[in-house]
Formats: sequence, C-alpha cells, structure tokens
Amino acid sequence: MADLTAALRSSGDTAEVRMPFTGQVLVHLPTTAVEQVTEAAAEARIAQRAWAATDVADRAAVLLRWHDAVLDRTDELLDVIQAETGKARAHAFEEVADIANTCRYYARVAAKALSPQRRSGVFPLLTRTVQQQHPVGLVGLISPWNYPLTLGAGDAIPALVAGNAVLHKPDSQTTLTTLLARDLAIEAGLPPALWQVVVGDGGVVGPAVVDQVDQVIFTGSTPTGRLVGERAGRRLIGAELELGGKNAMIVCDDARMRAAVAGAVRGAFSSAGQLCLSIERIYVAEPVADEFCSRLVAAVHELRLGAGFDYRSDIGSLAGPAQLAKVREHVEDAVAQGATVLVGGRARPEIGPYFFEPTVLGAVPPHARCFSEETFGPVVSVYRVADDDEAVTAANDSAYGLNASVWSTSRSRARSIASRLKAGTVNINEAYAAAWGSVDAPMGGVKESGTGRRHGVAGLLSGTWSQTVATQRLWPIGERSPLRGRRFQRGMTTALRALKALHRA
Ligand code: NAD
Repeated sequence: MADLTAALRSSGDTAEVRMPFTGQVLVHLPTTAVEQVTEAAAEARIAQRAWAATDVADRAAVLLRWHDAVLDRTDELLDVIQAETGKARAHAFEEVADIANTCRYYARVAAKALSPQRRSGVFPLLTRTVQQQHPVGLVGLISPWNYPLTLGAGDAIPALVAGNAVLHKPDSQTTLTTLLARDLAIEAGLPPALWQVVVGDGGVVGPAVVDQVDQVIFTGSTPTGRLVGERAGRRLIGAELELGGKNAMIVCDDARMRAAVAGAVRGAFSSAGQLCLSIERIYVAEPVADEFCSRLVAAVHELRLGAGFDYRSDIGSLAGPAQLAKVREHVEDAVAQGATVLVGGRARPEIGPYFFEPTVLGAVPPHARCFSEETFGPVVSVYRVADDDEAVTAANDSAYGLNASVWSTSRSRARSIASRLKAGTVNINEAYAAAWGSVDAPMGGVKESGTGRRHGVAGLLSGTWSQTVATQRLWPIGERSPLRGRRFQRGMTTALRALKALHRA
C-alpha cells in the first residue's frame, strides 16, 4: 500500500499511533498546524466552486464508482480498520458494507432530492413558488475512532454529492482509514482538493475546523459535542451533533429467546461494545429472565477473543489504554456497589494489552456508574422488570436517547413499546443494524445523544440551504386601486375563506 500519509500537510510535528492488537507503533502521523487548517479550507473552497457547478448526475456517478472501489478493495480496508481500531474483522466489514450502501443510496436519490421543488403559492395561479437547495459550501467533519470508515466517509458522501467540499478532522488514532477511503474516492473521480484531511490534537485542530467551515458534522462524546455546538453557535453555523448513548434493549415475555440472546450478544459486543448504538442495558420480563440470563451467559462463554486479521475471532480489542481503564473502573465500581458478574469481568493481557472479556452484570444498583453512564465497552447489565410499562419507564430513565431495541413475537406490541421510547431509533427484533442500515430513514439521537440527523433525504439536505423563489403574476398581493382600505380587507377575507373551502394548504 502506498504511503497514505503523503497526502497530509505537515507542521513538522507528528502524532504517534499504536496498534491496539499489540500496543506497537503503527505510524507517526504528520500533524497539521492551525494556519495549515486555514490553507486547507481555502484550497477546498476553490475546488468546491467548480464542483458545485457540475451536474448532480456526474457527482452521483463518482459515488457509484466509489461504491465499486470500496467493494473491490475490501481486504485492504479491513486490514487498515483492524490495525487502527483493534476490532474483529467481521465488525470492520460492517463498515465497508455500510459505505457501499450509503454510496448507492445517495447516488440514487440525490438528483431528485436536490432538484427545485414547486410549493403552493400565496394564491393559486397568481404566485409561482419554487424551493431550491444550494450547497452550504465547506462542511466540517469531526469524527471519532470507533467506526472510522462509517462515521468519516459515511458523512462525507451526502455532503459531497450535495455539492460541498469537506474539511475533515478524523481522530488521529484512525486517520489512515480516512486517507485510504479518500484515495479510493479520488480513484473514483473525486477532485482531491475537495476532501481535505487535517490531523492533530482534538482541542486545537477541532476548533480550528469549526472556525473555517459553513456547517459542522460532529460525532463523538457528549461533553465535546457541547463545546463544538457552542463554538458553532457563536459563528451562527449549523451543527449536527451525533453524541453518546446508553442504549436499552427490552425483552418481552413472548420474545423468541434464541433470537433475543443472539441480538443481545451482537448489540452489546460489536466492536467490543465501542459502538454508539451499543446495548448497555437489558430489561427482561421476569417470567423469562432466568432462561434469558442462562442462555446469554452460555452464548458469551462461546465468544472467541482474538487479535487476528481474519475471521477466526468474534471480538477484538478495546482501542487503547483509556478505554480499558474506563471499562475496568465501571466493572470494579459496579461490583463494589453490589453487582454480580454473570460472565466475563476481566482484562485479558495475554491476548493483547487492551483486551477485556465480554461481560454481563446482574443486580447493578442505581448508584453504580455503569447504571447510567456510558461505558463504551463490552459490558452490559441485565435488569428484571414486571411488565412492558416498567420496561419503558426504566429504558426512558436516562439522560441519553440514541438507540433502543425491542424483542417480541407480537409486532403490534413491539411497535407500541417503540413509540413510547425516547430514542432516535428503535430496532424491533434487531439490535442496531436494521435501523442503521435503513439508510433512507433519518438517524440520530434525542436528549444528550445530540441534535443531528444523518441518513435519508434529511441528511442530504442538511448540507444545503434552501432558497424560496416566489414569482408574482397578473395581480399584486398588496392593496391596489380599486381594492383599497376596507375593500381590500373584504376582498382578502373572501379569498382566504375560499381557499379554506377549497381545502388548499
Ligand atoms: P471525543 O468527543 O473524545 O472525540 C471525537 C472527535 O472530536 C475526535 O476527532 C477528537 O479529536 C475531536 N475533539 C476532541 N476535542 C475537541 C474539541 N474541543 N473541539 C472539536 N473537536 C474535538 O469522542 P470519542 O471518545 O472519540 O468517541 C466516543 C464517543 O463518541 C462516545 O461517547 C460515543 O457514544 C460517541 N459516538 C456517537 C456516535 C453517534 O452517531 N451518535 C457514533 C460514534 C460514537
């Protein structure tokens, strides 16, 4: 593989990145000085002017070629994602499949969604009103390390097809994945200056990005999201904030146990639980709780931890020492407060420095940290509930509202529970992939899980500003002789009543 870092501007300093599987140095990344962020933004803006003038169909064609390049070079992408994140290969593949899905979707819908739309005018025939969309210009992308392809390239796709340039600050830990995805996009025909990648300390380079762009898409923790939102607010630019979660799964007494257990395992331990949509709380109906717990414990015992660049392991490593320390603290604190470890609960340094066993906790008391704080690791707590109402109340008793999962053989029961949950996505008889993969539907959180909506037409239009062009014909709207004063009032009143009678919007 060519030296991916050659595309980066260099301040002269470097950031050391280590491989989670071994703790050994993977790369010394050139970092970007703040003035170079300004240079990158200026270069991107020049490229954006030409790009915005191209036909949407041509931009969509780049996405379709990018789709093919991603699928043709899957193994290369998987190697880089695994080297940077330490996740299992199957979890890395979810990201590759996701990018192909997202490229295809936006390539297919962009032309129609971005085309001018007729709107009802003030008066039929007299006012012709059209809504048109313009790209915002330069979109800032600040992305985390946990899903580097999905949360980097995945958000660049709608921004680019809408006619924008992108100024992207990935987490330093996972910059190589971004650079490889960008290389594939360039091979597919994307002008290189259109997607600028800048690297460095989040607290320095992140704000420098926010200061340069016309809109920011931030994915990361809630505390950092608040800082980004505040800074964007001062500049009066839009901020899509995709933040943390403490996601609940509800297992009803009529759920298919085998499926629910398999869903719990995938939901809680994909990417070693370092997934914003990850299930960290399971509320299981009392009559089936014993069976669910014993099956879950057995399934978790079967999981293979491993550090291989192949499909032999089910779960990989945590991303680094900070994540390992947090997971340990949460488990030790829960146990000290009276929780029971049903399975797992230990670090596994003999496999790699940051491995931690998939862990299921029972009897976690409300004052334990992992009861309400996001762990962002392979730890899930099981709680017994009397009925659906108690499950819904407990699931909603959280500062977060990102994702939820409901298991029942009755679709109407599950849908009724779903509508009562305060979470941006609810998966029925699935943990997270059904809602995430339905890329035609918006995706994002409520409460402290953020304000943004990615995916769907909403995710495309968020990178644009709307302009309403209304043309008045034949007769002006305001007073005009002989319709003046009271006559004008009467005429308008009659017209408004007529519009209502005609069922006009
Ligand atoms: P983080 O907030 O520490 O970092 C995210 C990004 O922000 C990184 O690129 C970082 O360098 C940058 N950054 C740090 N300080 C900054 C600042 N002051 N201004 C601007 N940028 C700054 O988050 P993380 O630990 O990398 O990611 C894990 C968190 O992300 C978890 O809470 C997880 O739930 C959340 N997450 C949310 C989603 C979602 O879609 N809602 C997806 C993935 C992860």
